[in-house]
Amino acid sequence: MKLLEQRILQEGQVRPGNVLKVDCFLNHQLDVALLDAIGEEFYRIFQKEGITKILTIEASGIAVACMTARHFHVPVVFAKKAKSKNIDGDVFTSTVHSYTYGRDYDITLSKKFLGPADKVLLVDDFLANGKAMQGLLDVCAQAGCHVGGIGICIEKGFQPGGQELRQAGYKLVSLAIIDSMSDNSLTFRQQEA
Ligand code: 5GP
Repeated sequence: MKLLEQRILQEGQVRPGNVLKVDCFLNHQLDVALLDAIGEEFYRIFQKEGITKILTIEASGIAVACMTARHFHVPVVFAKKAKSKNIDGDVFTSTVHSYTYGRDYDITLSKKFLGPADKVLLVDDFLANGKAMQGLLDVCAQAGCHVGGIGICIEKGFQPGGQELRQAGYKLVSLAIIDSMSDNSLTFRQQEA
């Protein structure tokens, strides 16, 4: 998606540890018009998949999910990075390793919001090693729901998450795939429209 690639080139900042900062427009300050265009693009790509819910993980995925759901006219449900235990057995849980913080955390999602009748589109701001997505997919497996696709804003193609998910057979589309990045250069993978 050219619009997103341009913004990354203009405003993205490469930080140590292969972290790209895009907090001017994607995950701290939010450019709602850009997010709406991202949601529209995900709708164009996944509209025939029979999606009943958009699923993401807090916090950065929520804005992307909401602007996507506007186009699908379905609810958003997000996994919480919770400290609480599954005492009543009323939540699905999984453990995720955080790329940006370098530690494990638990996610939870109430059982009442996801079930076998659902076909979900998973979305997130970034895909790196794929741990956040694996956590969401684990929750989907526990819920017995169908995965209609995975929509990512920025995939770091030099990390293995994307390749693993595609090899596993998921319909994964990333609107911008970065093949390499350093302080003064950033290259995108050419993709078919
Ligand atoms: P993964 O689980 O695929 O390794 O990493 C994806 C998650 O880590 C995303 O939810 C995203 O919030 C965060 N993340 C991974 N790489 C980056 C990055 O380069 N920049 C930012 N801002 N977040 C990242």
